[in-house]
Amino acid sequence: MSPGFNSGLGMADSYFVASANAATPAPPLQGEVRADVVVIGGGYTGLHAALNASDRGFSVVLLEAGRIGWGASGRNGGQMIPGWRKGAAELVRRYGEADARRLFGYALDARALVLERIAEHSIACDLKLNGHLTLAAKAADCDWMREEADTLARVVNYPHASVLSAEEARASVNAPGFYGGLLDAWGGHLHPLNYALGLAAGAAIRKITLHENTRVTAIDTENGVVARTAHGSVRASYGVLACDALLGALAPRIAGRIMPVANYLVATAPLENPSALIARDLAVSDSRFVVNYFRLSADGRLIFGGGERYTPAPPSDIAAFVRPHMLKVFPQLAHTRIDHAWGGLVSISMSRLPHIGRIGDLYFAHGYSGQGVLISALAGRVLTEAMAGNAERFDVLSQIAPPEFPGGAMLRSPLHVLGMLWYALRDRL
Ligand SMILES: Cc1cc2nc3c(=O)[nH]c(=O)nc-3n(C[C@H](O)[C@H](O)[C@H](O)COP(=O)(O)OP(=O)(O)OC[C@H]3O[C@@H](n4cnc5c(N)ncnc54)[C@H](O)[C@@H]3O)c2cc1C
Repeated sequence: MSPGFNSGLGMADSYFVASANAATPAPPLQGEVRADVVVIGGGYTGLHAALNASDRGFSVVLLEAGRIGWGASGRNGGQMIPGWRKGAAELVRRYGEADARRLFGYALDARALVLERIAEHSIACDLKLNGHLTLAAKAADCDWMREEADTLARVVNYPHASVLSAEEARASVNAPGFYGGLLDAWGGHLHPLNYALGLAAGAAIRKITLHENTRVTAIDTENGVVARTAHGSVRASYGVLACDALLGALAPRIAGRIMPVANYLVATAPLENPSALIARDLAVSDSRFVVNYFRLSADGRLIFGGGERYTPAPPSDIAAFVRPHMLKVFPQLAHTRIDHAWGGLVSISMSRLPHIGRIGDLYFAHGYSGQGVLISALAGRVLTEAMAGNAERFDVLSQIAPPEFPGGAMLRSPLHVLGMLWYALRDRL
C-alpha cells in the first residue's frame, strides 16, 4: 500500500495491514463534480454515512485524504463494546432513567447496524461475538461493576452483563493481579481494517463514488456544501464531516470539542496455546484510566493495546514502549516475540460522549473516546436520517454534545495533558 496522509504512527507495520484483504484502490478526485451528498473521511463514520445516504436514494461522493480505513478505523483494537464510553449507571446519574434507557437503546442499535452491514456485504473480518470482559484493576472497581451490572439489568433492560469473581476472571484471562471483572456477553471483536475495507467494497458495488488520496482543503457551507481539494471540488446539497481525530484545521469552529490522543498497540508472534491466555476468544480491557486492552487474532497472536502519549511525537520504538504494559498484565510473555507495533490517534471529548451536530447542511460526528467501532455505525445512520428529514435521534444526540476543552482548539492540549497525566499517575499509585 502506498503511504498516504494518515499513514503515520507505524500503520504500514500494523498486523492489520499485514493481514488485510485485497482492496481495489480508488482514484483521486480530478475536476468539479456534483452529488447529493459529499462525505469527507473514509473511516467507519464516513462509510456508514455513505451507505445510509445511498440507501435513501442520495447520490454520494466520498473523499478520503489517504487510504480507506487508514485512520483510527483500520488500526484500532477491534473491540466491540456495547454501550457508550460512559457506563449505564453514569448515564442515569447524568440524564435520569428514561433518557439513559433511550441512549443505551441507541447504542444497541449501533451494534445491530454493524452486524447487519457485515452480513449484507459478506464482510470477512474475523468477527467473534463471545463477549467483552472488563477486568478490575483495583478492589474498589468491583463496587462500580456490581452497580453497572445492576443498572444495566434493572434500569435499561439489558440482561447480558454479569460480575465475575477474581477466580472466575482468572479462569477467563490468565493474568495475575485482577480483582474480578464485568462480563458483557454481547461484546466481541473483529479485524478493524478488513471491516472498513468491506464497507468500502459494499459502497463501490452500490455505485458510491470513492476517491482516495484526496484531501479536502476547504469547505464552503454558504449554499449547500462545497468540498475543495487540490485538483477539484464536490458541490453537494449536504456534507458529512467524518475526520475524527484527524480533523485538524478543516473545521476550527468544532475542533475544540475533541482532542487527539496517541495510543499504541502490538501483535505478538502466534502463541503456542492462545486459549490458555484468553479463554473463549473474549475481548478484554482493564479498568485503568490509561486502559490496557487485548484479545487474540484469528491466527492466535495476542493483540495488546496500552500506553498513551500526550506529546505529538511517537516513541522511537513503539514495541519497546508497549512491551512493559503487556508484561505487567502477562508476565509469562517475557520471551514472546513482538511481530508488529503501531499506533493511532483516538479522539476524546470532555464528557467521553460523541460530538454530533451540524453547521448548516454540513453534518458531523466524532469524539467516540475510544469506543467507536460500534457507535460510528449509529452516527453514520443518524446523520443521514436527519438529512432525510427525520431528526429525532440526531436531535437527542446533538443535545448531549460535550463542552469545549478548556482553552479551545489552541490551548486544549497543554491543559488537558496536565489532567490526563494526573489520572495516569493515580493509576500507578
Ligand atoms: C489505537 C486505537 C485503538 C482503538 N481501539 C478501539 C477499540 O478497540 N474499540 C473501539 O470501539 N474503538 C476503538 N478505537 C476508536 C475507533 O477506532 C474510532 O472511534 C473510530 O475508528 C472512528 O472512526 P471515524 O470514521 O470517525 O474516524 P477515522 O477512522 O479516523 O476516519 C477519519 C478519516 O478521515 C480522513 N480525513 C481526515 N482529514 C481529511 C481531509 N481533510 N480530507 C479527506 N479526508 C480526511 C482520514 O484520513 C481518515 O481516514 C481506537 C482508536 C485507536 C486510534
